[in-house]
Amino acid sequence: MKLAIEEHLKCSEYPRVGVVIAKSGEVLSTGYRGETRGVHAERVAIRKISDEEVQGSTVFTTLEPCVELHDEQEIKSCAQLLIDSGVQEVVIGVLDPNGTIYSQGYRKLLENNINVGFFNRRLREAVEEETFEFGDIHKVYASGKRRIPVVHSGTDIEVQFSKSDERIINIKWATLQHNHGCVDLSSSNGSVRVAAGARDFGDISDPMVFRFPSHFARMKKGMIAIVKPANTTFFVLIQLLDIFENDIIFKWAVRNDR
Ligand SMILES: [Zn+2]
Repeated sequence: MKLAIEEHLKCSEYPRVGVVIAKSGEVLSTGYRGETRGVHAERVAIRKISDEEVQGSTVFTTLEPCVELHDEQEIKSCAQLLIDSGVQEVVIGVLDPNGTIYSQGYRKLLENNINVGFFNRRLREAVEEETFEFGDIHKVYASGKRRIPVVHSGTDIEVQFSKSDERIINIKWATLQHNHGCVDLSSSNGSVRVAAGARDFGDISDPMVFRFPSHFARMKKGMIAIVKPANTTFFVLIQLLDIFENDIIFKWAVRNDR
C-alpha cells in the first residue's frame, strides 16, 4: 500500500493513481498514471510482467479501477483488464468520486469473484488528500468547472472566494432527476436567484437585477443561478452545464458586488 502511494506521488497529472502488483509477498511490478502517456496505471504495471506472473496476483491501486463508460470504448477498462488477467485480489485506496464510476469498479470486481480489500483508514486519508487536484472534493475556489455525483441526501459544496480570502458560500445539489433533466440548487447561507434570460456569466452585470430570491432553484441544463448571502457583497454565479444519471457538471465564478 505504501509503495502504491509512492508510485502515485510520481504522477504529474490529476487524478493521481499508483499501482503495485505483488504475489506471495514479493513485488512483481509497479506503475503510475502518466508513466506511459495516456495509459492507466493498472495497465502500465501489468504490461511490465508476463501473463503468467499476473495470474493469481494481488493488485494494490490507490484509486478504484475504471469501468467501461460506453459500449464502443476502444480500450477495455482497467476493471475488465484485471478480471481478464486472472488477478486474485485487488486492494483499493479510494473509490472514484466521479459519479459514473463511483463504486462500479468495486462492484464489477466483486461480481467477477475477485477478492476486494481497501487500504487502512490512515492510508486512505493520505491517498484522498493527494489524489485529486483539490484535496477536498467538497470545496472549490474562485472559478472553475467540476463534475460531481449528486447523492440522495444532497451533495454539499463550499465555494470559497479565493485561496487567501476565506469567505464562503455553501451550495447544495439535491434531487437529481435525470429523466426530467433537472436538479435542485440551494444554499444554507444565501438566497438563490435564477438569472432568467442570461446565457453566460458575462451577461450578468448586477445580480440584484434578478428580483425573486428563493430557497432553491430547479436547474436545467444551461441555466444560471446567483447565490448571495444577505448583507454581503460576495456572491457566486453557477451554471449547470450537463446532467447525467448520477452526476452533474457545473461551473461557477465568484464576484464582488463593489
Ligand atoms: Zn483505468
